[in-house]
This record gives sequence, structure tokens and C-alpha cells, in this order.
Amino acid sequence: MILGALEAGGTKMVMAVGNEEGEIFERKSIPTETPEKTIPAMIDYFREKRIEALGIGAFGPVDVREGSKTYGRILDTPKIAWRQYDLGKNLQEALQVPVKVDTDVNASCLGEMTFGDAKGLKNVIYITIGTGIGAGVAVNGGLIHGMLHPEAGHILLRKSPKDSYEGKCPYHKTCFEGLASGPAIEERYGKKAWELAEDKEVWELEADYIAQAMANYILAFSPERIILGGGVMHQTQLLPIVHEKTLDYLAGYLNTPQLTNIESYITLPSLEDNQGILGALQLAVMAKG
Ligand code: ADP
Ligand code: ZN
Repeated sequence: MILGALEAGGTKMVMAVGNEEGEIFERKSIPTETPEKTIPAMIDYFREKRIEALGIGAFGPVDVREGSKTYGRILDTPKIAWRQYDLGKNLQEALQVPVKVDTDVNASCLGEMTFGDAKGLKNVIYITIGTGIGAGVAVNGGLIHGMLHPEAGHILLRKSPKDSYEGKCPYHKTCFEGLASGPAIEERYGKKAWELAEDKEVWELEADYIAQAMANYILAFSPERIILGGGVMHQTQLLPIVHEKTLDYLAGYLNTPQLTNIESYITLPSLEDNQGILGALQLAVMAKG
């Protein structure tokens, strides 16, 4: 089977062609400009490859409810040119193949569950901590959609008394994304996040916020595995502090083998930043049915 995968991001569109075994034959990345410019280039690419189905992991909010009249539509995104754009439908009509659309983070979650270390697990959360914070959530083997889809990067956290930063989220100020995204770190300290690598306090605070979110996700969803991706997690000193602080926040309330072995419970991605595109490939497998 020749399948198409699209990772539709705010800055770039990653297109790939592969098969149901998770083999990627080729890929191409183009900048995300306006739909008028970017969509024809994507159609040309996938048409030439003669793909049989297309899976899309898209920035959100996006309508992921199959059967909805506006399935695959980008909703009220801050990226104005893409607002209310029928991404799924327009690609489906141009390419005449089945198309399945999910959020970028749900796709990454699916990628890890199909081809990565989370293989065989049915309850998994994938979080990206980068320009924004987003979470893909699988429960009982299926990605959560619901009313829209989870927006678990915007959960409300307790602000540290040591932190005087007002928060980056335009809606909630000090939600998880507002306190802990890459741009939040950079605005709080007035430096690029990687330039702060040696500053212990920066990562203590960052790990504190991430750990609060972990505790909330663990309590609310009972995941069997949590995967932390995104640019900020390239700071490898973060993960051990997140482990420690997550257990502190849970305060012994839960006793499970996973929490006893938290190093293999909250982990980094296992697919070398291919989790998103591989998840989109798996969406294509599902679209093909
Ligand atoms: P995006 O979220 O845009 O898809 P990333 O996940 O790479 O992309 O996130 C980019 C953000 O992550 C940057 O704005 C920066 O704040 C942060 N970031 C990227 N690389 C690093 C790094 N090595 N250390 C710390 N923060 C980083
Ligand atoms: Zn928010």
C-alpha cells in the first residue's frame, strides 16, 4: 500500500509517503504559508506519488469528529489565513482518496502506540512542550475526541510563589502552556531557552509545572504511559526532576508498579521525532480501512 502522511504544523508542513509497516519511503517539508500557496504544492506532491489514502495530524483546534459536516476543518486558530479552512475536505476532494484527520498530538500519541515503545498499551498520553503545549490522549485504545478534542495544554496550574511571571497564554495567562511553554520560559527570563541550560532554578521551576500537569493527567486519565516530547524536553536535566516532583505531588496516594518504576512510566519519545509523521501514516492506514 502507498500511503500519504501529513504533519500540518504552524511553521511547516511535513509530507511523507510510506506503508502500513511504518516504513517511510520519502518525505518533503515546505513552509506553512497561506492555503492558496501551500495547498496546491501539497496536492501536487501527493498526486504524483499516487497515494491510496492520506492521514493528517494537524495543528488545532480542528474538527476531528468523523461524520461531522465540518470534519477536518481548521477552526479558530490564531493563524488567521487558516481560520475555518477545510483542510481535510479540500485535500480529499483534490486527491480522491480516503482522508483521516486528527490533532498533531493525537497523531504523535498514535505513532508511539503503533510503532514506538507504547506499542501494546491502550491508555497513553503524549504531550508536546514546545512553542505551545498540547496533549494527545488515548483511552481504551482509542484517541479521545469528544465535544472537540482535549486541550490539555491549557489546564490550570498552581503558580509557584517564587514565580512573578504573568504568564504567556492570551486566554488564561497562567495555564500550563502560559507558564511552561518555550516562549513562556523565554519571556520570563529574557533569554532563549537553550541559553538557560546551566541555570538550575529555571529547570526546577519548569519541572515543577510539568509535574503538576503530570499529576493531574495521572489522576484524571489513569494512563499506562506518558510521553513527553517537544523542544523544551531537549533539556535532558528536566526529566529526572519531573519524575521526582510528580511523585511528590501524588504524595503516595496511588501505589502502582508503574509509579514505583516512574523512569519507564514518564518517558521521552522513542521514535526520534518521527512520532507525528508515523502517527499520520497510521491514520492513513485507518482511513483505508
Ligand atoms: P513547535 O512546538 O513549534 O513544533 P518545538 O517543539 O521544537 O517546535 O518547540 C520550539 C520551542 O521549544 C522553542 O520556541 C524553544 O522555546 C523551545 N526549545 C527548542 N529547542 C530547545 C532546547 N534545546 N532547549 C530548550 N528549549 C528549546
Ligand atoms: Zn491557556
